[in-house]
Amino acid sequence: MTDIDETDARDHRGHDAARGNGAVCEDSRGTRGHRGTPTLQRRLHLHILGSGSKGNCAVVEGPAGLIMIDDGFSRKQVIERMHELDLDEDDVRALIVTHEHSDHVSGIAVWSRRFGGELLASAGTPEARQALGDLPFTTFMPGDVIEIASVRVSTFPTMHDVVNPVGLRFDCDGDSIGICTDTGVITPGARRALAGVRVLGLESNHDIPMLRTGRYPRALQDRIASERGHLSNDQAASAARELVSERTECVVALHISQENNRPSLAVRAIAGALGAALDDELGSSATLERAGGLPDLRVRAAGQNRPISIW
Ligand SMILES: [Zn+2]
Ligand SMILES: [Zn+2]
Repeated sequence: MTDIDETDARDHRGHDAARGNGAVCEDSRGTRGHRGTPTLQRRLHLHILGSGSKGNCAVVEGPAGLIMIDDGFSRKQVIERMHELDLDEDDVRALIVTHEHSDHVSGIAVWSRRFGGELLASAGTPEARQALGDLPFTTFMPGDVIEIASVRVSTFPTMHDVVNPVGLRFDCDGDSIGICTDTGVITPGARRALAGVRVLGLESNHDIPMLRTGRYPRALQDRIASERGHLSNDQAASAARELVSERTECVVALHISQENNRPSLAVRAIAGALGAALDDELGSSATLERAGGLPDLRVRAAGQNRPISIW
């Protein structure tokens, strides 16, 4: 954890207290203590409706509603998956777009027809795709910090073959979630923003040998492996080693390629870097049991078709 992150958490707590609404984050359904130690309260929850090249949508649940990240699914799919996770589509307060690739935005035009919340994207992103150009986006610059529904959203630049891609960090009352996908490298901004988050959603797109021996044309392989492409399992593993701190409770592998990867390979790579033991022989998840009353660290994989919740 960096000094900046500690300062951020304190500032946010002080901010809420100063407004007399220090309890804005009190509705946490799943808060659990860890062996009586002073772990931070879980104010935020991460729901991955689906993650991968066929569609991306995640939801951060805060004390005053839901923040949707990308929408690459049909309205029907989004609502079905939200209901599967016990979420209500009417609680979505804002939709933030990370970049304009279709697997992240294909559902937005239809979604926005019956959406009263705010549409947010980085400058240049709405104009980069025709279907988004006419929608009432509020734009920001990568690096800007936005307040949405009692949650502070910090944006940071990623590296990808689009106009102005971003990753996101969410803070509320000392709790934090970070999400970083569709980037060829961990940028300095990502490194600063993601260090020590409680829940780290990190792209683990491809296994390099599978990519290089797979059926994708060489040019596409090169694009995926480039610094404006996607993070490999090895890159995700070394990033996880660097970013995870004692307060981190979960690392979720995101945007796993169905063609050039397996969830178990992503989990194995990240678990190996963190010293976590696989939970079963399938390697679908892993756990690092920590001494000294610290919370266990879990490694999981998000898929394309089955929504999951991280409490
Ligand atoms: Zn994508
Ligand atoms: Zn992309």
